[in-house]
Amino acid sequence: MTPPVRLAVGGLLHETNTYASGLTPLERFHRASGDALERLLAGSQHPVAGLIAAARARGAEVAVTFGAEATPSATIAAAAYQELKRQLLDGLRAALPVDGVLLALHGAGVAEGVDDIEGDVLDAVRALVGPGVPVAVLYDLHGNLSERMCRAADFTLPCRLYPHTDYGMRAQEAVDLLLRRLRGEVRPVTALRRLPLLLALTSTDPGFAPARANALCAEIARRPGVLDCAWFHGFAHADVPTAGAAVVCTTDGDAALAQRCADELALWIWQRREDFRPPLLAPAEGVARALALPGGTVVLNESADNPGGGAPGDGTHLLRALIDAAPAPGTCCFGMLNDAETVQQAIAAGVGRSLRVRLGGRLGPLQGAPIEAEARVRALTDGRFTNRAGSMLAGVAFDVGPSARLEIAGIDVLVISRPEQVFDPEPFLLHGIDTARRRLVCLKSSNHFRAGFRGLPIVTVESAGLSSADVATLPRQRLAAPAWPLSDAAEFSLP
Ligand SMILES: [Zn+2]
Repeated sequence: MTPPVRLAVGGLLHETNTYASGLTPLERFHRASGDALERLLAGSQHPVAGLIAAARARGAEVAVTFGAEATPSATIAAAAYQELKRQLLDGLRAALPVDGVLLALHGAGVAEGVDDIEGDVLDAVRALVGPGVPVAVLYDLHGNLSERMCRAADFTLPCRLYPHTDYGMRAQEAVDLLLRRLRGEVRPVTALRRLPLLLALTSTDPGFAPARANALCAEIARRPGVLDCAWFHGFAHADVPTAGAAVVCTTDGDAALAQRCADELALWIWQRREDFRPPLLAPAEGVARALALPGGTVVLNESADNPGGGAPGDGTHLLRALIDAAPAPGTCCFGMLNDAETVQQAIAAGVGRSLRVRLGGRLGPLQGAPIEAEARVRALTDGRFTNRAGSMLAGVAFDVGPSARLEIAGIDVLVISRPEQVFDPEPFLLHGIDTARRRLVCLKSSNHFRAGFRGLPIVTVESAGLSSADVATLPRQRLAAPAWPLSDAAEFSLP
């Protein structure tokens, strides 16, 4: 009997918003190794959990190495990145010898002095395991794909859906491809085509332009000889030379076919770029539009101050517009505003008491003026909740620190102590709010919340913020060539 295939699994995930002020220190990363990492993620839809589960399901012997992740934020401090890289490599080294490596990386990680941390990590992984050990990488589709990343791995597989609810499925595909490669059934060759396109964060739900690009991906992936075809939306909120969308195609030994397919999809996306232009609705207009919709609950999301895109999450633009609209008391809720200082004041006041707050607007020039108001403390919690089934990252536990439900002008506002986007109703429920009974549920998130609030009408507003959909407003110094929609001089042609 042949021994089982031995696979190492690890991960390093950070979406770096280089426009955010300061640096991201090591303490912002959740880190775990071996059994502790596996226990932490067990049963969840986290990409590392998906790789572990898929490898075990296929009968592989799995060496769980090291995983680290932080909520999107500013450029990673140099020393922090070197420590994360060291821990990842040490974990992998301790697992050797292995037949293959499975990694979950984000793809848009930037550290001080390292524009492309994934390319840097993968070169080091390749040097460690040698040229003969296949490496498969599962990415967030918001990665900025570089040639270096592609070259160092045998399989470059971004998730296909945004909200990223397909990590489990993509992990299975990654494991299956790696095992086919190990059995000698396929000889993967990968081609990429980068596009001079800086896209706003746009869902792949039906009706959005990326869904149509995904349909072409699926058609290409079914062609003879093609093993995988997918595309990275890119992350426009990183000012790095590789920022932008990219197509990646892997075939069985046919480099020319891989390039033809990548080019076909890249050209298709480029020719339809106007379809990717986001609507830009001002907060007051958005509130009016949402309140005018007939029927039950409407979700109103503020994309520009999305902590899931590296923004501070204490912006007051949408909340102010909501207060100004004076909706009936008790009909609207808002989550989650990152303001640890106000939470501490609410804790000092106590549940049921009122206090004067100066809420938000502290963490940067785009965040709007603080909201000065009378607030009543309705609930205080530890800010711990777990994403529910069906949500993005279902089963993953979150800790947003001490939290308060404040009632301001008849609106229930969740105030938290660490930046985090809203994925589903769980943080509201934690504070005694049933979102299904509210007329308006307002939240800070760009698209991931769509999985957790499926079936409800959604109105998206564009306020100022570090994750603005209006990517042309972000100053740029690092782009290698003109890019759409920043410049009409942007060009794309196939060689
Ligand atoms: Zn993403």
